[in-house]
Amino acid sequence: MSLITEITAPDGHKVTLNTGLFINNEFVAGSSTIDTINPATGKVLASVQAAEAKEVDLAVEAAHKAFYGGWKTSNPRERARLMLKLADLVERDGEDLAHLETLDNGKPLSNSRRGDIPGVANQLRYFAGFCDKLHGKVIETEGKLSYTVHEPIGVCGGIIPWNGPMLMLAWKIAPAIATSNTIVIKTSELTPLSALKIAALIKEAGFPPGVINIITGYGPKAGEALSRHMKVSKIAFTGSLATGRAIMKAAAETNLKKVTLELGGKSPNIIFDDVDNLDEVVFWSRLGIYANAGQVCCAGSRIYVQEGIYDKFVEKFKALALSGKVGNPFEEDTFQGPQISEGQFNRIMNYIDIGKKEGATCYLGGNKVGDAGYFIEPTIFTDVKPDMRIMKEEIFGPVVAISKFKDVDDVVAQANDTTYGLAAAVHTSNITRAITISNALEAGSIWVNCYNIITENSPFGGYKQSGIGRENGEYALANYTQIKAIKINV
Ligand code: NAD
Repeated sequence: MSLITEITAPDGHKVTLNTGLFINNEFVAGSSTIDTINPATGKVLASVQAAEAKEVDLAVEAAHKAFYGGWKTSNPRERARLMLKLADLVERDGEDLAHLETLDNGKPLSNSRRGDIPGVANQLRYFAGFCDKLHGKVIETEGKLSYTVHEPIGVCGGIIPWNGPMLMLAWKIAPAIATSNTIVIKTSELTPLSALKIAALIKEAGFPPGVINIITGYGPKAGEALSRHMKVSKIAFTGSLATGRAIMKAAAETNLKKVTLELGGKSPNIIFDDVDNLDEVVFWSRLGIYANAGQVCCAGSRIYVQEGIYDKFVEKFKALALSGKVGNPFEEDTFQGPQISEGQFNRIMNYIDIGKKEGATCYLGGNKVGDAGYFIEPTIFTDVKPDMRIMKEEIFGPVVAISKFKDVDDVVAQANDTTYGLAAAVHTSNITRAITISNALEAGSIWVNCYNIITENSPFGGYKQSGIGRENGEYALANYTQIKAIKINV
């Protein structure tokens, strides 16, 4: 059986892909297969292999052997060289990767090209720079010489979602590899393609067998087997709260593997009536909720507008939302592609229904777009009350809840009235107010007069039930190392 397939994008670009499980630098067959669907058409794109417990075990064994077979004590310069080489290869094959990402996930090709490809390369290059900069400390302890070393944890498992498949892969691989861990990544069953292309580049870059393994498979089978595996010492997960809980439980019931979680959000975006440039605020707010068709963990899905500019904001926001083309993600001027799947489409449409029944005003959108695929109009609800479900629950689609506020205390209390704490934004021309509110908001990322600025060198992660630990920036290194204290009786 050949595992090689050729995929042709609507613009004629062809990509040849090995659809096997990438274990020990080889592509191998799995226990079953998964059909991956193009969300813009609803049609099958390709069939990939699905790992079950047996293949997860093979991948973990390969990673375990690679860790103890030399990678644990590998030369930092060599690790950096391999990571930099991989970044170059990702750029070299950027067109193939961008096309696969858009076919599989539905995000506009312009976003895959200008956001995801550089994002992956930047992530690899940033963490490559840390390979030779992992230092301990020397500590005087009761006349003894005491020092610390930062050691890798061992075999890491990375379980990633479908909303940023390539980028999330890089967020997991880069810090793990820089700190000389080995890793087994499980992609989302909905978006396996770009990761498989990257697997081929990992081999071409020259990584030793077993250092990075990439498997495709279903969550309850491959994901659960990985999170219960006794030789996996750490799991880094991005996805839903429910799965995050299941992974923590699996870790608790097995070998107490370390767990970091990047989960969901219901992020507030606060707009004061003293803003200098309302058009800019509208630009950032629209990016905050409608980027990636609203399928962003830190989406600014609750907008609070001060009463003095409420009407003006809502009017301008609606006009900009209407101006964005929803449709074929391969057309250069498309702003919003489809939702990832029929299941997500139905879930979002159900929330739109709930919002209407709860008595909020559906001020814009609320409908399916076109006949094929899973497209939804950018949707605005106004007059949304704090206890309505569309104000409290993560919708993960192009649906925003807008509400009016009077004063600072009132809006901060409402913004923090959530079980989540991933991100928040405040728009104001008053620097004191910007700082005061940034301090008061309970979230891992705060944006002032902007939105969705996420870079490889700045930490990202959640307060409350939005997660545990931080990715990106030097803070991420702590999640992939353990500290040993050595005391010498001199
Ligand atoms: P999901 O939890 O269903 O799936 C995520 C991954 O977990 C997939 O690879 C899936 O196969 C796997 N999985 C599912 N069940 C599992 C199990 N029992 N054991 C182990 N693995 C399992 O989430 P999703 O639908 O892919 O993503 C949407 C959610 O993820 C949203 O809530 C969103 O906010 C969140 N998210 C958060 C971030 C972040 O950085 N904080 C980024 C992207 C998405």
